[in-house]
Formats: sequence, structure tokens, C-alpha cells
Amino acid sequence: MNNKLYGKLIFELSHEGSKAYSLPKNMYGDYELPKAMRREADAELPECDELTVVRHYTNMSGNNFGVDNGFYPLGSCTMKYNPYINEELAARKEFTAIHPAQPVDTCQGALAVYYNLQRALSEITGLGEFTLNPFAGAHGELTGLMVIRAYHESRGDTKRVKVIVPDSAHGTNPASAAVCGLEVVEVKSTADGTIDIEHLRGLLDDTVAAIMMTNPNTLGLFEPGIPEIAELVHGCGALLYYDGANLNPMLGASRPGDMGFDVMHINLHKTFSTPHGGGGPGSGPVGVRKGLEQFLPKPKVVKNGDKYAIETGGEGDIHVGAFLGNFDVDVKAYAYILTLGRENIMKVGPLATLNANYIKESLKDVYELPIKGLCKHEFVFDGLKDKSTGVTTMDVAKRLLDYGFHAPTIYFPLLFHEAMMIEPTESEGKETIDGFIAVMREIAREAKEEPETVKSAPHNAPIGRVDDVLAAKHPVLKFE
Ligand SMILES: *Cc1c(COP(=O)(O)O)cnc(C)c1O
Repeated sequence: MNNKLYGKLIFELSHEGSKAYSLPKNMYGDYELPKAMRREADAELPECDELTVVRHYTNMSGNNFGVDNGFYPLGSCTMKYNPYINEELAARKEFTAIHPAQPVDTCQGALAVYYNLQRALSEITGLGEFTLNPFAGAHGELTGLMVIRAYHESRGDTKRVKVIVPDSAHGTNPASAAVCGLEVVEVKSTADGTIDIEHLRGLLDDTVAAIMMTNPNTLGLFEPGIPEIAELVHGCGALLYYDGANLNPMLGASRPGDMGFDVMHINLHKTFSTPHGGGGPGSGPVGVRKGLEQFLPKPKVVKNGDKYAIETGGEGDIHVGAFLGNFDVDVKAYAYILTLGRENIMKVGPLATLNANYIKESLKDVYELPIKGLCKHEFVFDGLKDKSTGVTTMDVAKRLLDYGFHAPTIYFPLLFHEAMMIEPTESEGKETIDGFIAVMREIAREAKEEPETVKSAPHNAPIGRVDDVLAAKHPVLKFE
């Protein structure tokens, strides 16, 4: 874009004396702010007229890339379409103008949304009861581990201080266990990418509180050993935790509760289509099997007859945040579930799985596929098959931006040096996916015949290759 304003910082557009605001009429009469609370010098804010401000932010918003702009195959993040009807419903005044502390008689509709969503999640996962209080996936993990600890403590079983986490796990798993004050023990993966059951067997004893499993795991593989793992883990008195952040491929396929899991979390901001990225807002509901309900955090929405109520709980109860979580996210997820209905929810997993396998099979002759065979919703390439020209996964990811695609997740999971994790979701049609495959093949050709084009990408983005190590180590967070 050849626009003088474009790409500038708002401070650079400042002109002394310009302004773009008008204060509303004072409704409260004269009030002098106490002197100690007043500024001594004017704040150093940019001075701009209204049209300049509008243009600045409109142009900036054009630099955003989201699911609404194009294909976003970010593995482990489930960047599916977020229907606008969810937003419209969550923005209704009946939902936004209520206060969490108002009398329950006056917000029965909102409580019905909580309650019905809890029931729907139980139905989808096969677990007995859910809390919607946690604000994100990692927060759900922490909550779930607190529930597990409370369960062991209630039985006087206080020496269980270890949590077993697979080496392929999402980084939040060991982090949540550590925040919960538990000791992390790593269980290895086999060469085919699933949990090494023999290694696990040797780790189990009466000091283990739980195993945290992700299924399908971070390589997009369904763990075939679950029945045996469940028997072993329960046999030693520990519980099974299911990281259901990426529940997408399981919708319509199978249910964690039926597999023997005791506690799980779900990321509504992945599987249930509420927007995420940029840090939120999220929602990480936690479900437990029958018999563990009493350990779920308070407050809790319950139904007594045909009235909804909030149980506030007491001293021994777990509390994980203010009030009842991110209500607007819950409304969006509930709207999504109702819009799809049972029949279409059952298609989500199979379609997401089909899309991922189609891409994998269409590209495996030019990209290195370390784990072969059927994947679920996502899979991992280990960079280009032909690495002789030195083109890396980072280069391919940057070059994709030139072609209008968001990059996949790169350099995660850590099991492969040049990891490139691709998750198309069920939202995408064949045309888009074929377009992505064609571009990935074109980049592989460029990498061989004109590697400099790929190594110096992006060429069409507003800024070129950034030094991300420098940016992470020495972030410049203010205008100078
Ligand atoms: C995204 C994700 C998480 C963490 O969820 P947040 O909402 O980002 O805290 C945990 N586990 C897995 C497998 C994930 O993909």
C-alpha cells in the first residue's frame, strides 16, 4: 500500500493541537479531584484528528490475519470458523447487563445457559459433572489437578505427590503440575509416537497421584494403549487426567468418560468455536466422573426442581477464580453446540480427521513424514524431505505468508528438529485445502530451484523477517 499514513505509529502522526474527542456532559455536578491525585504535567499522548485515528486503526486492523481472512492451519490450536451468530447471542443485553452478584431469581436465563452447557459437555464427554469456572486450558489443568489432590487427601492418601506426563505433552501439563505443587515425572514415547507402556509400568507406585494424557496426543495419534494404561494407573490407586484441549477429533468418535478417564478439561476456545488468539478470552471447563463431583470448585450452578441456584461452598472447597468463569465464552460455545445439534457434532471429528489425512497424504512425497499411518485432526512433518539447499521449517513458514496462508505451528512438538504441525479443522472445504497443498508443493519446488526466495521470505508482508530471538530477549515495549 502506497499510503503515507500506513505503517506509522500513532505517535508519529501527532500534530500539536489536533484532537479527536469530545467529553460527554458532566452528569454529576462539580467535583474537584484532590490535588494529590492530579497530574503535574500533561500526559504525553498523541494528538490526532478523528479521521487520522480512524484511518490509523483501520489500516492496522488490515495487518491482522484470522480465520475470517484465510486458512489458518495452526496445529494444536484448532483455528476453526467462529460463526457470527455466537457473537450476536453473547452480546445480547440480557447477558451483558447482568451482574454476577445479583439475586439468582433475576438471572434464571443466564444460569440455565450455565447449567445446560454443563449438561451438554457431560453428554459429549461421558463424564458426570462439569464446572465452567476455569478461564483457559492451563487453568483447567490446574483445577483438575487440585480436584485430584483433594480426592487423594479426602482418603487420607497424602503421599501421592507425583504426576506422570508424556514427553510429547503440551508444555502447560508439566507447568500446571508444578504450580499445583506436584512433582513431574516424564514417561517416554515409543518410536511410533505413543506412550511407552513398559516405561510407564516402571514408574507407577503409591506416590503417583495421576497421569496426564493428551488423546489424540500432540502428534495427532490416538493412543491405542488406553484400556491397558487405565487398568495399570487405577490399579496403583492413581487417577487418569485427560487433556481435552483438542477434543475436536473425538466429537462423534469416542468419549473420554467411556475410556476410563476420571478428570478432564476442554478448551471451549478451540473445540467449541469461540475465538482465541491474542491471549483470550478463553474457557477451560473441567469435568469429573461420577463420585468426584463433590471436589469440583465452588461456586457452582445447580438446578433444584425447575429453579437454578448458585452453591457458594465453604472453607474446604476449591476456588479457582472470581465468580463463574468467562460467561460470554460459555454463551458462544452453547450457541455453537445448539446450532450444530447432535447429528452435526457427530460429524466434526470424522471431517477434521479426513482433512488432516488428505493434506498429509498429498504432501508426504515432498515433506518428511516421521510418523506414518492414520492421524487424527493433525499431523507433524519434520521439514522438507530434501534438505540439501538448507531451507528450514522457519523459511517455509515465512514463505507461506507470501501466499496468503497462516503458517502452521512450527518447532513443536520438540520430538523433531524441523517440526511443522498442521491442523486444518473440519471448517475448510476441498478448494481451500487443495490451494494450500498446491502452495506447499510450490514452496518445496522453490526450495530446490531458487532457495534464496524461500530463505529471504516473506516478501509481501508489511514487515520482513524479524529477529525473533532478539525481540523475545530485548522487547521494546514503548515508543521512544
Ligand atoms: C492449547 C492447549 C493447552 C492450553 O490451553 P490454554 O487455553 O492456552 O491455556 C493445553 N493442552 C493442549 C494439548 C493444548 O493444545
